[in-house]
Formats: sequence, structure tokens, C-alpha cells
Amino acid sequence: MSTTTWTDEDFAALNARFESASPRAVLNWVFDSFETEKAVMGSGFGASGVVLMHFLEQVQPGATVFYLDTDVLFPETYNLRDKLTARFDLDIVRVHSGFSLDEQAEEYGEKLWEDDPDQCCFLRKVKPLRQYLSDKSAWLTAIRRDQSPTRANADHVEWSEANEVVKVNPMVKWTEKDIWDHIDHYNLPYNPLHDEGYPSIGCMPCTERVGNDADDPRAGRWSDSEKKECGLHLEPETAEG
Ligand code: SF4
Repeated sequence: MSTTTWTDEDFAALNARFESASPRAVLNWVFDSFETEKAVMGSGFGASGVVLMHFLEQVQPGATVFYLDTDVLFPETYNLRDKLTARFDLDIVRVHSGFSLDEQAEEYGEKLWEDDPDQCCFLRKVKPLRQYLSDKSAWLTAIRRDQSPTRANADHVEWSEANEVVKVNPMVKWTEKDIWDHIDHYNLPYNPLHDEGYPSIGCMPCTERVGNDADDPRAGRWSDSEKKECGLHLEPETAEG
């Protein structure tokens, strides 16, 4: 399917159709519409991502799931990656900036994540994402509307101007409770840090423990600053970092 001629009306019609559709129905549409190798899911192995991977395996066994390895993920996150690799019939692919922490320290200083987190996210996440997606057509994500005000208006199907792909968000309507009920029901693996007061888990230097009663599902991320997103899901000027 060519996406170059899609109009706003095309996206509106799809989103009207998907507003009451299940994640599985949205995934079926993705793999009916795009070549399998051109439709990839991105994940940081959060709880929503685990649930989407569960559906993805059912709809398209062997599909690609990529993660952005910033070199500073938690050991628990790498362990979860290994468990998910063993559990699901999916191809979990590492995407890396090619820019080592030593090279970054030499060029920008030891703690770029403190001095300029937007630049650090651009180098270690946004830029590698853009490179990886440059030959893809569809990017699946597990973002949800209830995660933050910046995601409250997310649609099931969007055009990512920054990455020039169709962005598909099959979980947008699910709530935090829906996600955990699904994980419990199917006994899916999840990051044990969630049980230790980390509602949202990113890179180690930028994720803090906030306790289990935090109202904000993304509390603890860049908690010392106004920053709320790494830029992966912002369009398009802020995605530049
Ligand atoms: S989350 Fe923090 S450590 Fe990770 S890429 Fe962004 S600024 Fe750097």
C-alpha cells in the first residue's frame, strides 16, 4: 500500500472505524495493508508493550519488535527482553545509535542526560529511530491516551511526519487497569521494577522511584525537569530534540 497519497480524510475514516475496534482488529488491518517486514513494533518493554506483543504474536507470528538500546537501560529491562524473547514468537531486534557512551562523554561531557537531556534523547533515541524507520512503512506503538496529557489525543492511526511512516497505536483506548488485568489473566512477564514503585521505566539516569501510589503513570521520568517525553512521540519540531 502506498501511503504517499493518504489524505486527512483517509486517516479520519480509519480512526472512526477503529474507535470501537479491538487491538487485534487494528493489527489485522496493519498486516493486510503493509508488507510484513515493513510493519514493525517499537517497545521499551513497558506493561502496555508486553500486552501489544501478546496480541502481535497471535496476529502475525514472527513479526519484528525493535527496542532502542541507549546503553543505560535497567538490568531488569534487559532481563525482561530475554524473557519476552523466550516467551513470544516474535523477532526482537536491538536498535542502537552506534555512538558509545565513551564517545558521547568525550564530545558532550560525562552526564549529557543531566546537562542537556533533549540532546541526549536525540542522539540515543530519536535519531536511531528515524534511521531505523527510514525503510519501513508502519510503526506500531503501545502508547495510551491515559498515560499523559501529551498522549491524550493520540489516534489509532496517524502520520508520523518526523519519521515518514504510518504510526499505529492499537492500545490507545486501554487504561492502566485494562493492561494489568490482561497481564495477570495471561500471566505475562513484566518488569519487576513496576512492583517497586516505578510506574514508567526508561533509562536509569532519568527514571526515579516514586512509589506505588503515584497518580501520574509517567511519574518518575525526568522528574527534575519539565521534560515529559523523550521526543519519540512528539511531532515534528520537538522530535529534533
Ligand atoms: S532518557 Fe535520559 S539517558 Fe536516556 S536517552 Fe534520554 S536523556 Fe539520555
